[in-house]
This record gives sequence, structure tokens and C-alpha cells, in this order.
Amino acid sequence: MGYIEPAPIRDHENPFESMMSRFDFASEKLGLNQEIYNVLKSPVKQVIVSLAVTMDDGSIRVFEGYRIIHSNILGPSKGGIRLDPAVNIDEVKALAAWMTWKCAVVDIPFGGAKGGITCDPRAMSKGEIERLIRAYTSSMLDVFGPDKDIPAPDMGTGPQEMAWLMDEYSRAHGMTINSVVTGKPIVLGGSLGRAEATGRGVMVSAMVAMEKLKINPYNTTCAIQGFGNVGSYAATLMTQRGVKIVAISDVTGAYYNKDGIDARAAQIYRDGANGSLEGLPDAEAIAGDDLLTLDVDVLIPAAKEDVINKKNAIDIKAKLIVEGANGPTSYKADKIIREKGILVVPDILANAGGVTVSYFEWVQNRLGFKWTRDRVNRRSDRIIKDAFDRVYKTSKKYDVTMRTAAYMVAIDKVAKTYEYRGGF
Ligand code: NAD
Repeated sequence: MGYIEPAPIRDHENPFESMMSRFDFASEKLGLNQEIYNVLKSPVKQVIVSLAVTMDDGSIRVFEGYRIIHSNILGPSKGGIRLDPAVNIDEVKALAAWMTWKCAVVDIPFGGAKGGITCDPRAMSKGEIERLIRAYTSSMLDVFGPDKDIPAPDMGTGPQEMAWLMDEYSRAHGMTINSVVTGKPIVLGGSLGRAEATGRGVMVSAMVAMEKLKINPYNTTCAIQGFGNVGSYAATLMTQRGVKIVAISDVTGAYYNKDGIDARAAQIYRDGANGSLEGLPDAEAIAGDDLLTLDVDVLIPAAKEDVINKKNAIDIKAKLIVEGANGPTSYKADKIIREKGILVVPDILANAGGVTVSYFEWVQNRLGFKWTRDRVNRRSDRIIKDAFDRVYKTSKKYDVTMRTAAYMVAIDKVAKTYEYRGGF
């Protein structure tokens, strides 16, 4: 099947502006002083590179690549690399800032960054992607570093791309430096538990939120948009805890079964069908966007930004939204969702399991020691639960949404650290 350009309904809001609006609101609630506000709102470094890559047919194509470091106040910056036709600098800037707040919410000593290359990886061969990643790494040798800026996978990238990045960086330095990147294959120093870490964090957040809402997971239905890394692991782990997943989706559309979809079988089907859910057995095919407004208890958007927006927010029936994707709810939709009384576990908390285990991977690489999967899971579950409690308490104390509370927790931490460190 050819690549289908995803086409969610969009608010036409600039994702960076959405993020900034939330940042502004939370800063105001915190009473942040204007000077610190100015420091925290600006990315510290923005790098744009042109990557000339020889394609399999011998032609040379030029791709645009970005790396934005939003903040390195808490430590080396951390953030994934996204390969997608829609990648643009505003999106990467928004994602970089999200990483700053995400690391701060879960209290790990990293700043925030993000990278991206505007390209269509589904229309490229493995060799073409390898050359693209190596070209990108080579252009970013002075940006990346285990103590400076540590990339990771995001949409369109995975362990193989991280292995090429580590190899290219290591060759340039004449020695193996595996702590420059996380999300590597296990044999190269990847952490056990990293592949499922983000989906696991989504599941843990969902479980704690259900407890607060007094919802019994065994009587709960859930729809998940996006069946990639985050969505598919969230689906299997939620199923294991009794939740009935009635709908899942990917770029090919949504698949519904009121009696429940076997998430593990769907993962196996997808892996055997070149990553696509098209033709999933034992499920009815429905329009992709209809998944978001199904009559379910829990909705997990785990694909793209701005999919819940002012056009469809009013029709959402879920009691709980757990944001697996970054920025799936537009700023304009926030108000509608709040008025409907839906609890939202915001992206910077709900999907922070990935960066938490990335941090564990970096720690293990630097220790030269490997933790068991059990230890990784236990420690990351604890971190997500503690972060959830901090944010929940803040939301009650200030009578704000979990999203505003998460920003307040994060901004407060970065601002206090900046005040101690000082500037020029
Ligand atoms: P992925 O590439 O593995 O999967 C993305 C999935 O979304 C695929 O199934 C794709 O077909 C589907 N999709 C794309 N557009 C869609 C649409 N319009 N409707 C329905 N499905 C659609 O990516 P991923 O790693 O799972 O990341 C998903 C989201 O989670 C992104 O927003 C990413 O930034 C965020 N995230 C990922 C991680 C991580 O560790 N992978 C960590 C934090 C946040």
C-alpha cells in the first residue's frame, strides 16, 4: 500500500502558539516575573541544515533538517528526531519547548530539544534513510553530545535510525560513544523497557486518573488514535489491566469492535502487514476521525497534534483523555473540553514515560551497567505516579486544569533553577 498523507481536521493554529498560550497562562497563574518569562519563552539555539543525499537512482536530493534546543537550564537537552512530510520549524520549536516542560514535570535533569527532517520516510528506501540520518548527524556534530544534547526517536524514527546516528557520531570521535543518543537497539546499549516506555507511562497515567475518577478499569472502554509505538503499547498494557479497547486507528483509518479489539493480535497483524492496520480482521472499518467522538470512557490520542480541536471537541464523549501524542488537543479546544468536565492528563505528563526511560538509558550507558526490565519499569512507574500526584495536587490547590497545573509545576522548577544559576 502506498503512503497516505494523514489528514486530520486541523484548527489551523500554529502549534508553537498553542504551546505559548498555555505557557503564558500558567506563567500568569504562577506570578512569574517578566524577565524570567522572557528567558523561558525563547529557544536557546535554532539550527537549520540542508542535507544533500544521493538517492538510490543516483539523483541528489536536498532535505531540510532542524534541531532546536529550547532550554539547557536543567541539564543537557533531550528530544526526539521526527521524519515526516509535515515537519516545519514551528512544529519543531513547539516540540522542543514541550520537552523542557516534560522533563521538568517528571523531575529528570534534562533540558528540552527536538529535531526533524522534512521528508516522507515511507517513500524512501532503507539505504536512503540511512544516508539521510548520517548526513543529519554529521551536520549536527557540534550540537549533539552526551553532556550537551541527546537525541532520541520520534515519529518516523526508531532504534535503527538511532544506531546509525550513534555510529556516525562515534566514527567522527574515533571511539564508541553510546550515551549520545537514546532509544538504541538493546545490543548497542539501549535500555530494556524503552520501546514500550511511552505507552507504559500512558497506561500508568490512565490508571491513576481512573482511580481519581473512581472508574473501574474492568468496566471501561477505550479508543486509541494511532497504533504506532505509543498507541500500540498503551493498548496492550491497558488490556492487561482489564480495559476494553473498542477502537484503534492509523493513517489507513479506524477499526472498531464493540466487544473489544485484541491489541496484541493487532500488533502482530500490523507487523506482518508492513506496519499498516488496513484489513484488520474482526473489526469494522470506520472513518479515522470518527474514532475521536465514539461513546467510550477513555480516549487516547497517540498520533498527531491538533486532532482534538474546536470543530470536534464538543462531540467528544469520553470522561477521560490521556494524551499519548504531543499536542493532540488544540488550545481552542481546551476550554470546550474543560466545560464538558472531561479530565485531561496532558501530554507533558502522560507521555513522559519515554523520556524517563531515555534518561535511564543514558544513566546506564554512563554507568556501563545494565538494569533489568523490572527495575526500569518499577522506577519509571514510580516517577510517573509521583509526577501525576504533584500535578493533581497543584490543579486542586489553584483550581486549574491538569494541563495548566503541569505547566505550573514545570515552569516553577525551571524558573527557580534559572534564578539560582543566574544569567550573563
Ligand atoms: P509512530 O510513528 O510509531 O506511530 C504513529 C501512528 O500514528 C501510526 O500508527 C500512524 O499510522 C498513526 N497516524 C498518523 N496520522 C494519523 C491520523 N491522522 N489518524 C490516525 N492515525 C494516524 O509514532 P509514535 O512514536 O507512536 O508517536 C506518536 C505520538 O506520540 C507523536 O505525537 C509523538 O511525538 C508522541 N510521542 C512519542 C514518544 C515515543 O517514545 N515514541 C514519546 C513521547 C511522545
